[in-house]
Amino acid sequence: MVEPIRAFRFQLRPTPGTAHTLRRFAGSCRWVWNRAIGEQQRLREAGEKFSGFAAMCRWLTAWRNDPDTAWLAETPVQAQQQTLKRLEASYRRFFEGQGGYPRFRGRGQDAGLRFPKASDCKLDAENQRIKPPKLGWMRMRQSQAVEGEVRNWTLTQERGRWFVSIQVEQPEVIPAAGLVPTLGIDFGVALFAATTDGECVAPLNALKRQQKYLKRVQRSVSRKVKGSKNRRKAIDRLGRVHARIAAQRKDWLHKLTTKWADAHPVIAIEDLKVAAMSASAKGTATEPGQRVRQKAGLNRSILDQAWGEARRQLEYKTAARGGAVVPVDPAYTSQRCSACGHTARENRPTQARFECEACGHSENADLNAAKNVLAAGHAVWVARPEACGAEVRRARPVRGRHAAAMKQEPAEGSAAQAVVSAGIPVL
Ligand SMILES: [Zn+2]
Repeated sequence: MVEPIRAFRFQLRPTPGTAHTLRRFAGSCRWVWNRAIGEQQRLREAGEKFSGFAAMCRWLTAWRNDPDTAWLAETPVQAQQQTLKRLEASYRRFFEGQGGYPRFRGRGQDAGLRFPKASDCKLDAENQRIKPPKLGWMRMRQSQAVEGEVRNWTLTQERGRWFVSIQVEQPEVIPAAGLVPTLGIDFGVALFAATTDGECVAPLNALKRQQKYLKRVQRSVSRKVKGSKNRRKAIDRLGRVHARIAAQRKDWLHKLTTKWADAHPVIAIEDLKVAAMSASAKGTATEPGQRVRQKAGLNRSILDQAWGEARRQLEYKTAARGGAVVPVDPAYTSQRCSACGHTARENRPTQARFECEACGHSENADLNAAKNVLAAGHAVWVARPEACGAEVRRARPVRGRHAAAMKQEPAEGSAAQAVVSAGIPVL
């Protein structure tokens, strides 16, 4: 059974001495990378064949034993071997025409230190510290418990800070029998999300709040002379502002999704990949609210990311709690009456309001949509193979594309006509 892999990422707090050692380790890996490329080029020019990972590891042993490069032996060999593994992969991509020839790396282009085995590092969760090979214990900001079986460790440096990424394997949980979706979430622009619990979540305007400061920093970058030290500094400051905004956004989203996953094991959400596709296929006139989307302009891409990230978080958080996320086709969720099922554009007199032409049901448009998402989630959930007693191969809920394919209505005109002209009767 395929087991889901998850990563935990924490900031490390090395002492200056340890940070120096880490940089030295990373530098030695870079040296190994460059030296191996040099050797491969020499072989190539001599008309010899490419040497694979195993052969490169033998070179590495020789370099570590060579008195001239004996300093290489101060770095954990696993990390250097992983560098060669990455190099091999890079060559394979090149041979298959999927990438350029591997490049030499200059200073500051270190790819990080990877330790491929659980036993390579020690984790002391109680004291929030980690011990990589050939290093002492190092403090880290461990913001959450590491759950699952550790697979590997990667130490990377970003903007002068060190991070550890711990990949773990978590057993796949089969959602308990009898569970059904109990929360529907409608993602939107004016409201970030509306749920069937009646919750309306306004979008986070961290960007807006920090916009002024951001503009100032951007201006200060553009005023500095190109290539100057001050410009470099200003660019670093700009990077930190962006990073802070991203961190705020992430924190906000984590709080939301944790709250939802804690309260509801199975959650229905719109499959927004389908939404994006159908919106472009359908043109813009049929979908009310399109104007709002266009107006959102720049913010739209940020929102797209946030929706995708919310879904990702909900998926692993519900899975960790023995539940699941059910993605549903978002077509018509905004136009259908959650009380009687009547579907019409006219049900939406305004962006915010839903008023059913047929039964008179009236409520906030986003809450109405959330109810439709939940109802559609129910239909998808009971139709999934596991629920029908089919043998469970992968105990995951039906994926979006399957769910959507069943309900997908043909795009106006084109798709239906194509089916007819191909001589296949339309059901
Ligand atoms: Zn109605």
